[in-house]
Amino acid sequence: MRLATYRADDGPRLGVIVGEQILDVSALVGLRQVTDMLSLIDLGAEGLARLRQDLEVENGPILQRQNAAHNLADVHLLAPIQRPRKNIFCMGQNYADHAAEHGAAVAAAPILFSKATTTVNGPYDPIEIDPAVSDRLDWEVELGVIIGRAGKNIPAERALDYVFGYTVINDISARDLQFRHKQWFKGKSLDGSCPMGPWIVTADEIPDPHALNLRLRVNGVTKQDANTSLMVFNLPAIIEALSAGLTLEPGDIIATGTPAGVGDARTPPEYLQPGDVVEAEIDGIGTLRNPVTRAEA
Ligand code: MG
Repeated sequence: MRLATYRADDGPRLGVIVGEQILDVSALVGLRQVTDMLSLIDLGAEGLARLRQDLEVENGPILQRQNAAHNLADVHLLAPIQRPRKNIFCMGQNYADHAAEHGAAVAAAPILFSKATTTVNGPYDPIEIDPAVSDRLDWEVELGVIIGRAGKNIPAERALDYVFGYTVINDISARDLQFRHKQWFKGKSLDGSCPMGPWIVTADEIPDPHALNLRLRVNGVTKQDANTSLMVFNLPAIIEALSAGLTLEPGDIIATGTPAGVGDARTPPEYLQPGDVVEAEIDGIGTLRNPVTRAEA
């Protein structure tokens, strides 16, 4: 299933995509209390089972309210999780060719950092540049993993059982701040620097998350083009390392690292400019398309 958050007249709504339509999940009989993505994820396998049951009825899903079905093309999609409960976990240098373009050796253990929750941005909303803060904004297409149930000390062989679904993330990075402050957090945490979506694809529909082509374009020109099979640490290894002594919770988000082709490593270096359009795409999931704008003074 593809699950999205969309803008309705009275605020964000949780939707499930059926063909060319998006249905308001809270209008389905089994899920009346479920008004946002986190409350659905919190229901675990039971929530998805109820949703499936409601969708698979003969003659199509029954909606309990008016104005609960829309053409997907007519709604404005927002980030699937509007406000994560904690920072977005991120992997650094998790593709060998990306580590090499930054002059780094392949890490012996996962490099983990985080992005503030206020980085969350929609799949089609602007990425704002404030030149007084940073003039070196860069792109990083990444596979995003959404955790579906709580766990600590999760062994690699059971790690994928904890995954609710997958999304596309663009880990927008202010390179000047990232390297000036040594720890990457500040340069990775500017407002709006985590475009995400356009939806979550549930894990059952991605049988092998390590066989996905991912690419990124700026103004239509391909800058990154790789496959998730090239990760240094695969998802089980990441989840095992991250959850060692640290409880992962439903709705936690992990950005799994980016391949080569970022702007900062190019000759000469390239950074996003107002007027650019940046597209981050993963086959089997979808495409983010964010315009770059100058922040209002
Ligand atoms: Mg990254």
